[in-house]
Amino acid sequence: MGPGHETEMADAPVISRLAVIGAGLIGGSVARAAKASGAAKTVVVTDSSPEARKRVREIGGNFADEVAETSAEAVKDADLVVIAVPVGACGEVAREISDHLKPGAILSDVGSVKTSVARDMAPFVPKGVHFIPAHPVAGTENSGPDAGFAELFVNRWCIQTPVEGTDPAAIEKLKAFWEMLGARVEAMTPEHHDLVLAITSHLPHLIAYTIVGTADELGEVTESEVLKFSAGGFRDFTRIAASDPTMWRDVFLHNKDAVLEMLGTFMEDLTRLTRAMRRGDGDALFEHFTRTRAIRRGIVNIGQDSAAPDFGRQHGPLPIAPIARPYASDDD
Ligand code: NAP
Repeated sequence: MGPGHETEMADAPVISRLAVIGAGLIGGSVARAAKASGAAKTVVVTDSSPEARKRVREIGGNFADEVAETSAEAVKDADLVVIAVPVGACGEVAREISDHLKPGAILSDVGSVKTSVARDMAPFVPKGVHFIPAHPVAGTENSGPDAGFAELFVNRWCIQTPVEGTDPAAIEKLKAFWEMLGARVEAMTPEHHDLVLAITSHLPHLIAYTIVGTADELGEVTESEVLKFSAGGFRDFTRIAASDPTMWRDVFLHNKDAVLEMLGTFMEDLTRLTRAMRRGDGDALFEHFTRTRAIRRGIVNIGQDSAAPDFGRQHGPLPIAPIARPYASDDD
């Protein structure tokens, strides 16, 4: 087999017919990436919102080949079904499509919480359908059909949480699909996923939602200062705190135990730092900040963020200086 043939194999669609339920940021990105990469031959998209379905039709072939009116209709004959709705709605969608799934199809999702999603969907998975929950760890603060883009998953992780006994060929197929979208794939148990994500994603969102809310209350007194001087750290929290309210309500309700556990550890660390500050223990503060700085550098070193300072934000040009007048001389 020559090298050219290998390339051809790598570029061949992994999936013949892909159904995406939920045309928001993640569903829209999966659909666009599957089209752009050729990972799926045909992409069918649906959404419970008529406006979203209309918008997908307007966007056209870069997003979907077909738009279905219902989830049941969308999954007909699909080899891979990806449920991309808020975590709290996954069980209900699984119930709706249960009788319409093709035998041998792979059923997956993109939910940010895995234990509860697996629990809610599993009762509706028919025999002969391969259920493999997954979570692409990639996103932005935007939502809706216009928010997605094909490159969202490039160089990002997709965590699969298959239950024991799942057909290894189906796991490989889903892995190959995500790799064609540019993602790196790793497997773990749903419980471990939920603990890891509680600290890396869910707790930071809870802190951002809290701090932006607190500053907003202070804003009643000094509103203009909060907005005006937001570049001093607050601005970076506001990006996270602008994330979709429905999605994040569901994340905190469905990963409550792991987030509360991490929150407990966080409070202890906060108490330790507060004590150091109160006692004037500069060494303790310095040692802590040095350790956290190394973590940021580690993230940049493994390519999970840009090394550009201030997240690569552009700075405006210097103000143009008034043309300097030459010193007046005696000849003037
Ligand atoms: P989104 O942009 O709000 O999109 C979700 C879409 O699903 C909306 O169009 C929504 O319609 C639709 N929907 C809700 N219930 C539905 C149902 N029962 N049947 C069909 N469609 C339904 O949200 P997203 O950010 O893409 O999040 C989707 C999933 O991805 C969530 O489970 C989330 O945890 C996960 N995720 C998100 C991120 C992120 O950064 N945003 C990252 C990784 C994973 P309406 O607007 O009319 O309700």
